[in-house]
Amino acid sequence: MLERMYAEVDPQVAEILDAALAGRALSVVEAERLVIAQGADLHALLWAADLARRDDNGDDVSYVVCRNVNFTNICYVGCSFCGFSRQKHQVGECYDHPLDVILDRCRDAVARGASEICIQGGIHPNKDHTHYRAILAGIKAEFPTLHLHAFSPEEIDFGHRKSGMELAEYLDWLKDAGLGTLPGTAAEILDDEIRQILAPRKLRTARWVEIIETAHRQGLRTSATVMYGHIEKPHHIARHLGLIREIQRRTGGFTEFVPLGYIHERNDLYNELGSRPGASMHEDLRLVAVARLFLRPWVTNIQVSWVKMGRKLGQRALESGANDFGGTLMEESISRESGSEHGENCPPEEFRRLIREIGRTPVERSTCYEPIRRFDDPALDPASLEPSDVGAAARQALGLRLQASG
Ligand code: SF4
Repeated sequence: MLERMYAEVDPQVAEILDAALAGRALSVVEAERLVIAQGADLHALLWAADLARRDDNGDDVSYVVCRNVNFTNICYVGCSFCGFSRQKHQVGECYDHPLDVILDRCRDAVARGASEICIQGGIHPNKDHTHYRAILAGIKAEFPTLHLHAFSPEEIDFGHRKSGMELAEYLDWLKDAGLGTLPGTAAEILDDEIRQILAPRKLRTARWVEIIETAHRQGLRTSATVMYGHIEKPHHIARHLGLIREIQRRTGGFTEFVPLGYIHERNDLYNELGSRPGASMHEDLRLVAVARLFLRPWVTNIQVSWVKMGRKLGQRALESGANDFGGTLMEESISRESGSEHGENCPPEEFRRLIREIGRTPVERSTCYEPIRRFDDPALDPASLEPSDVGAAARQALGLRLQASG
């Protein structure tokens, strides 16, 4: 059976996969070939990416206990794919949380074991650079050890333009107030032709790269992302990956790569401009696998977005090249407002159960991937109970209650 499958793999695809497994850097053209792999080629790709993941990361699957805080949904940028933002005049639908509300959410997060707060919001036309710093300083005053993963390159661009400082100086000024790392969002597809349609008023590719590279040089690490499944073509994805790898070769500042499937339900890009309705399951898995093979050894953490994919497909992605399950989030409004139905909170116990179900070892990590706690021993972790054991425990508890009441 296996022999038959291998015999059906396109020789060109087989050669690319062999090269990636042998540690050769793939070309952008080779990545583009993998991005359209189907049938036996796709199966071979997922299998090869899983092997590469095992070589690069072993069988651990990491996750971070974090809380998202989206402090405002007021935004003037008007990206066509965004279902989250509101205009100032949409009274009753828009919000702009004061620091008190943000601090309440941080308190709740810390009580639930969070090591990180991820802070992002819309681009509020009446705010300026001081607002971003005040949020960081306000949180750090009460929680000095909490890691603040905050502000997309779009927010950095906005604050920086208002500040009158040099970019490096502005980033240092935020770092001094407590900024720990930046989300590498607002990347979408790093191609200006595509960006012109997705988000005509958003920062361009060169500016995204400038902000990310400057952040890395100032000691602020970032994630890297891609948004796929809308109007892009395979060569856009391949070139995007090529750019991410180039940056990483220069700076080494990316902590991980996170493929983000486009959510189509509630936005103009789908409803008015006729984009595709998001990626298929095969595309989701294929992108994880291609990212693993193309970015190694420069970026070796490939993260699953369970909010976009759902938990079961997330498990499958962890068997197709990914090694990280992302964050607990606790609240999530950007994907939910766009139509995602995969929930807002994945408790750490749930991560560990999902990870154990696929025979791997859960590891809680920091934002920068230092291990915090490894959960080797299922016996010491109630979350590791097999469903049958859970059922047995529930039956036993019920039996005890019935005995007591009888
Ligand atoms: S994606 Fe960000 S910048 Fe674009 S409209 Fe939505 S909140 Fe604003």
